[in-house]
Amino acid sequence: MSDKIILVIEDNEMNMKLMRAVLKTGNYQMLEAMDAETGLRLVREHHPDLILMDIQLPGMDGLSATKIIKKDPDLKDIPIFALTGFAMESDKKKALDIGFAGYIVKPFSVRRLLETLANCFNSHQAEIRSSEQKV
Ligand code: MN
Repeated sequence: MSDKIILVIEDNEMNMKLMRAVLKTGNYQMLEAMDAETGLRLVREHHPDLILMDIQLPGMDGLSATKIIKKDPDLKDIPIFALTGFAMESDKKKALDIGFAGYIVKPFSVRRLLETLANCFNSHQAEIRSSEQKV
């Protein structure tokens, strides 16, 4: 089991199920939230290593939740990938402006998602180490 904890914020049960299977394949530990409010609580409680954030959520949407996380000095370094069923260029730009580490378009390739996660953890290693020292 990897020591990496990934928080998935996704309101669609089918997508959550799929994510559960994918992250199990990658040996990641997983936290689950079906709305942004629960997700924000889990971010503060567990400080996950990475967040997969659905954009369209009931109540608060994924963009607003990401803005809140990025404004919080204790949480802003956690990489957040947007999960969305649509990806127009303007949406991509908006997402990157807000501070997402990247963009995952649904339906996604399992292999590519695992590669994206592995790449992110490799490139953020130094950053993660320095944030661990602060704790
Ligand atoms: Mn959704």
